[in-house]
Amino acid sequence: MSLSKTDRRLETEFSAAVTKIAVLAVLAATTAQYSALPADARVSAHPRKPVQKKGKVAPNVEALQRKAFTCYLQRNYIEAAKLFKQCFDVDPSDVSVNYYLGASALFANDVKTAEHALCRVVVMSPPDSEFSNLAMKSLKQWRKEFHGIEPYSQLENGRLMRWEKGKGPIKVWVSDGLQLPRGFVGPELDSEKCKALYSMFQRPGFFNQLETAVHYVPSYRDMVKNGINDWGWVASEGIVSFEFTDDPTKADVLYFWCPVSGAGSVGRTYYPWTRTSNARCIVHIETEYLRKWGARVPTELRKTSAHEFGHVLGLNQHSNNINDLMAASGKDISYREMTSFSSESAVTKNDYATLRALYELPAGELYSTMGR
Ligand SMILES: [Zn+2]
Repeated sequence: MSLSKTDRRLETEFSAAVTKIAVLAVLAATTAQYSALPADARVSAHPRKPVQKKGKVAPNVEALQRKAFTCYLQRNYIEAAKLFKQCFDVDPSDVSVNYYLGASALFANDVKTAEHALCRVVVMSPPDSEFSNLAMKSLKQWRKEFHGIEPYSQLENGRLMRWEKGKGPIKVWVSDGLQLPRGFVGPELDSEKCKALYSMFQRPGFFNQLETAVHYVPSYRDMVKNGINDWGWVASEGIVSFEFTDDPTKADVLYFWCPVSGAGSVGRTYYPWTRTSNARCIVHIETEYLRKWGARVPTELRKTSAHEFGHVLGLNQHSNNINDLMAASGKDISYREMTSFSSESAVTKNDYATLRALYELPAGELYSTMGR
């Protein structure tokens, strides 16, 4: 693609600004090594371990980074982008490499590469950190090229969490109104209790003994499934795949119902803890509030379900943008016909860009499917 005159002017201005920041970063690094950027800029999504491909000698990453950065400072953006891509392939969890890959690609007119890299920077960094702010600035300044996307951070306790890729579809079971046994219902359930549930799920007849939640209406189940299907495009995007199952003992994700979920939310999602055997993802949907929604139930329940499934897929952090599906929206916000990724879905392009970036990055915590 080619840039207009105004864009060119912006490019020059922005390029000058970025170069200045980059030079400052280098000056700040007392050892004059590119890899010695400020601590804040060195936040990693997972333990920093150089990726070593079998049978090959790991390239000298530091030298490669310095070479790439020199090209960047000389405004040889095409070469810089190429070299930063090589650095990324060696260590995708390096936030500075992702940022400079994005910036170089942008100035080399490779908008697609730039978009992916800048989104990764935001997703892997704490909000308002140095590189996150720089990446957001670029995404906003080049709004038209980047379709106005505003990804959001997914970092929690310095880690990213998501499902393992390529391990078979995530199997989802939506119960027909069933609620968990006493002591595990709604606000009674916590992460520790989930661990007890995992083994209870293995007991023969466990699911047959469960009761139906009060105020449950059989049509709710399909509404929940519609919400989950709002993410149906993730497989074709090569992110991760999922399918419904009728067998709860084979499910990775289980939807239960409860009168009140607690914490003022209609839905709650409990992540599978990978250090626990047979860990599953548990979603709670509240029936009491659905009753109050009345005629709005089909749209509101679908959105609630889609929001919870966004959590299931790994979007554990909320968006600050009230229009995004993954905003920590209040109960009173209706299903919106948003500037969405698909007109059929409540998922916005911001949710999409965030999930895509999450699955392009190494994770600190990986969830495995039961079929592992
Ligand atoms: Zn949420």
